[in-house]
Amino acid sequence: MREPSRRDFLKLGLGAGAFAFAGCGREPPRRDALAPPASTVTVPGIARDDAPPSTPPLSPTPKPVPPQSRGERLLLPGTPSETILTMEFSGKAGPVLMVLGGVHGNEPGGWLAAEEVASWPPAAGGLIVLPRANRIAVANFVRTTEELGDLNRLYPGSPESPLPMGRLAAEIVAAAREFNVDVVLDLHESWAFYNGRSQNGTAFLGQTVTTGIGPRNPSLGRDIIARVNGNISVERDLLVERDGSAFRSDPTLGAPGPGQSQRGRSSLSLGGHVEGLTPILVEMGQKDQPIARRTELHLQVARAAMELLGIA
Ligand SMILES: [Zn+2]
Repeated sequence: MREPSRRDFLKLGLGAGAFAFAGCGREPPRRDALAPPASTVTVPGIARDDAPPSTPPLSPTPKPVPPQSRGERLLLPGTPSETILTMEFSGKAGPVLMVLGGVHGNEPGGWLAAEEVASWPPAAGGLIVLPRANRIAVANFVRTTEELGDLNRLYPGSPESPLPMGRLAAEIVAAAREFNVDVVLDLHESWAFYNGRSQNGTAFLGQTVTTGIGPRNPSLGRDIIARVNGNISVERDLLVERDGSAFRSDPTLGAPGPGQSQRGRSSLSLGGHVEGLTPILVEMGQKDQPIARRTELHLQVARAAMELLGIA
């Protein structure tokens, strides 16, 4: 276990966009700001004869490695929905995992687990956690309200959205791009269990792990399920795989009109908005499953994801 340093305890209460890394005081280079490999650089007006511009790079541009740092950022700063995003980078190369809790306020297993995950230091790569995404809904223990909007039906969101959750969706997408997030785990609860369901619907998604479109579909969700199910002895409680690639949304389509399906605007659509990202939606069943057990299973899913990504 590493020695906690002074910078571990630095709390940076800065507004969105103003976050400074405790480690070095500058933001990491963004993926889209990286210089292309030297072999593909062309200078206008200067002919190159050693490598034609059309030559593809031999290997993908490596991702930047943010310096070791721990900090916080406020999303929707200065508003009633202001909420804390925690982030920790190990200083070592590796994937970046983002964990969302409290997207729906009456699903406590998700936000209780996310709050604990926020204290886990990644051994490689990085870990970004938004424990109470819809902070007002969590405080009032309701799914959400009409005035707040449903975050899980509003991706990719917009800074101009009249709904606070529409603006939050845009800030989550922006953070995922800024920090090159590889995987999003969105922790939810449903009522009944998916296995043995009497009908389909969002009330019958308990114990499911759904992987959206992205480079790690379907392998990561499948591997998480295998790992966690190895610890579950009751058949009813076993996690079930769902394919979320149909939940892809087309960012050019804009907001769906009245009566149109919004299923393409859940967190499972994030892979269509952030290059290289794979979203995974986790639902635990509330029916006859104590809150401590639901929270524990969410923690096991998060732990398995970190181990499989090589950042635990
Ligand atoms: Zn939910």
